[in-house]
Amino acid sequence: MKSFIFLKKEEVKKLPKSPGVYAFKKSREFLYIGKASNIKERVKNHFQQPVYRNNLFLNQVSRIGFIETESEIEALLLEAHLIKKYQPKYNVVWRDDKNFFYIGITKDALTRVFITHQPTKNLKATSYKLQANYIGPFVEGKPLKQTLRFLRRIFPYYTAKKHKKNPCTYCHLGLCPGPNPNTKEYKKNIKNLVSVLKGKRKSVLKNLKREMKLASSLQDFEKAARIRDQIKALKKVLAYAKIFGAAKLVSEKDWQEIQKYLKNFLKTKKQISKIEAYDISNIQGKQATGSMVTFINGIPDKNFYRKFRIKMTPKPNDIAMIKEILSRRFGHPEWPFPDLILIDGGKAQLNVARSTISNQQLTIPAIALAKKRNELYIENKKNPILLKTLPRPVFKLILQLRDEAHRFALTYHLKLRKKFLLG
Ligand SMILES: [Zn+2]
Repeated sequence: MKSFIFLKKEEVKKLPKSPGVYAFKKSREFLYIGKASNIKERVKNHFQQPVYRNNLFLNQVSRIGFIETESEIEALLLEAHLIKKYQPKYNVVWRDDKNFFYIGITKDALTRVFITHQPTKNLKATSYKLQANYIGPFVEGKPLKQTLRFLRRIFPYYTAKKHKKNPCTYCHLGLCPGPNPNTKEYKKNIKNLVSVLKGKRKSVLKNLKREMKLASSLQDFEKAARIRDQIKALKKVLAYAKIFGAAKLVSEKDWQEIQKYLKNFLKTKKQISKIEAYDISNIQGKQATGSMVTFINGIPDKNFYRKFRIKMTPKPNDIAMIKEILSRRFGHPEWPFPDLILIDGGKAQLNVARSTISNQQLTIPAIALAKKRNELYIENKKNPILLKTLPRPVFKLILQLRDEAHRFALTYHLKLRKKFLLG
């Protein structure tokens, strides 16, 4: 297993730009471990963020460690391994234990593979005790699911306890071993999968190569070819698979351009670091919900996402809903205030946002983006400007903010609607 290389806090510049895992230490104590597709950018970003209650520990960091990996998947697996090993204090504080993800591998004859938050509990609604091994903890669900999706194509496995007599949907996709698997082969596959998940890629590849040679020496060319394809696919996935899709990093250069532009545009000297974007979802005013998403230095920070269920009745309308959400949001001074807010809408929406903010004795600039033509409305300017006329990095950031707010509002709205429809 590779080990950390440590640098002084001042030596951030020397960090590599490759994927891998990084660690923050206070003398000998591990404070935090994270993964990145670009270690240098990610670590720099931590220190560029304004200090809030939940990242105060950054002040205590004295040394920064890193381990380069060959791929994002390797970084993901290594991060889980190292968090388990060192139990850094702030990994645990940031998300309480229940939020971690684990891969479960059942110990029965036809092993199943699943993802769970609770590695020790019995599976719900089953009377028997589930005997399983667990790998983890993983910090994020999305890249983990993505990784398993890739690996399942190479090492097909079951997710259900009993397979029906006929091939299932997953069989047809080549993800399931089928109704009558060769149990010996299946066990071997699972063993390889588990080894890969535990970071033992090299030994898995070595074993597979040996098996391939054996098969071909026994003139079982079909099997040898199958294993050859497995090796090829595994190497490819481990080297190239992109699984860290979520956090879009803005490059240093782009970020500086964005800053320069926004300051000029908003006539302020303040850094525009924290931006909140708002969106509203409703169908004819029913189960109306609002969302607030937060980007810090161009990166979504889910610690500062909020959902609002619109309370006002009857017949809520856009303008009134924006007023309600913003009044409620700015009634929470413990949520650090943003440097800029973006709302969905046109002139009327912008005006109500401005008056709501100034009613709270605050001066926070607001802008509004009208969906239809992507027109941007700005304070003190009579006519909107077309978004596409802005510099590309600014244009991209504003669209990302809008899309993320929209996605987040819609998810919550659909959840509430489902609840409502189910009574
Ligand atoms: Zn199947």
